[in-house]
Amino acid sequence: MFEATDLKQLKNHYDVVIIGSGGAGLTSAIQAYELGLSPVILEKMDKIGGNTTRASSGMNAAETFVQLNHKIVDSFEDFYNETFIGGGKMNNQELLKFFTEHGALAIDWLAQHDIKLDDLTITGGMKTMRTHRPSSLAPIGGYLVTELLKYIAKYQIPLFDNIKVTDLLTDKGQITGVKALTDQEIMITTDAVVLATGGFGAGKDLLAEYRSDLLNLRTTNQPGATGDGLKLAKKIGAKLVDMDQVQVHPTVQQDTPHAFLIGEAVRGEGAILVNNDGKRFVNELDTRKNVTKAIDDLGGTGAYLIFDRDIRSRVKAIEFYDHVGLVKTGQNVEELAQEIGVDSQILQQTVYDWNAAVETQKDSKFNRTTGMERNISDGPFYAIHIAPAVHYTMGGVAINHKTQVLNEDNQVIKGLFAAGEVAGGLHGNNRIGGNSIAETVVFGRQAGQQVYKYLKD
Ligand code: ADP
Repeated sequence: MFEATDLKQLKNHYDVVIIGSGGAGLTSAIQAYELGLSPVILEKMDKIGGNTTRASSGMNAAETFVQLNHKIVDSFEDFYNETFIGGGKMNNQELLKFFTEHGALAIDWLAQHDIKLDDLTITGGMKTMRTHRPSSLAPIGGYLVTELLKYIAKYQIPLFDNIKVTDLLTDKGQITGVKALTDQEIMITTDAVVLATGGFGAGKDLLAEYRSDLLNLRTTNQPGATGDGLKLAKKIGAKLVDMDQVQVHPTVQQDTPHAFLIGEAVRGEGAILVNNDGKRFVNELDTRKNVTKAIDDLGGTGAYLIFDRDIRSRVKAIEFYDHVGLVKTGQNVEELAQEIGVDSQILQQTVYDWNAAVETQKDSKFNRTTGMERNISDGPFYAIHIAPAVHYTMGGVAINHKTQVLNEDNQVIKGLFAAGEVAGGLHGNNRIGGNSIAETVVFGRQAGQQVYKYLKD
């Protein structure tokens, strides 16, 4: 178990202050440390890892050694183009180019740090298996944070929890420190800050300002995802981009007080979606935006993910979903239909037709082309009731590919860097599953490197 650093050890100066302990914060801290800097990580919550710990599907990257081990020949171009099309061609192309061309290096870097993502799956909007995940098939987020924290501990990088950064301090437009709150106000001096504060998927005020139409939806986000980094940066003149681009995730189980995201890997491994009549209604692996719209068009009933034992064995997270009571089970399809209250003949026909589509690899109804490696025939059979919920904020602080934060005139704010969900633009109007974890590692490393360069130059 990782223990946060005792507050008594807090110093009043560090080479770089990293705000946030999710994937982006931890990665940038390790990278900065390995270049010889002394970083500190400040986390406002008492739980470390942010929304990263909730990520389930995997990490996208192209041209990796893992793909070649699986005999998958991929290309940066395909990764770029599929992400660009999935993002409504609104993606910041400078960021997208850097991102797609550095994923493989990030996979190598993780492997060098004993973080092995040796298995592959696929997410909506992608045409190739490029979503890397641990061969244990454990959800990626918890695994990544646990493993990165081993390096934070090994290097003795100070990580304080329950410290909320409230202001960025500048002199002549250049970063000089941060103000933060514990039980009292503190000041830390530094020449460089990395914003790794995540998004605002749980930030009612920012949602009200930019997307009031989503205020009545639940969120998959941890309560600390309130967009602090955006506000901190804006106060010192940073530009915010794409703030109205908020992703609603199509498959969230929300019949209990907690909203549980049911990862895209469930569909990637072969699950289908059916409506209350027991019929399919969409290409389940279309982009999140399109699948969400198709579910919304059902009129508020939500839909059911349907899968079998074989598919279940491919997604470890389903054990957890079942454990907390989210999974309905039937020994055969008829029994499952009764469990969820849909017409059993129609559901049986749907599954029969789907299995025929898998057999011929042709889905004439909805043109699904991926996640068709296995049919739904191996009982018991399972269903999870889902509906869309607020999930991810594509907008954020404007950065260049060096993770330097830009002001309204597109000039670099000296000493301020941002990585991960806090930064805007990479995903356009729709984030592809598996690209958020990839973003934290690719741009987290980049931030660590660019801080080093900034401080040495
Ligand atoms: P990413 O995936 O981009 O790394 P995460 O959501 O995983 O983002 O992590 C962001 C972390 O930053 C969260 O743990 C969140 O609680 C923390 N955080 C947000 N605002 C502040 C703040 N003002 N001070 C300190 N930590 C913050």
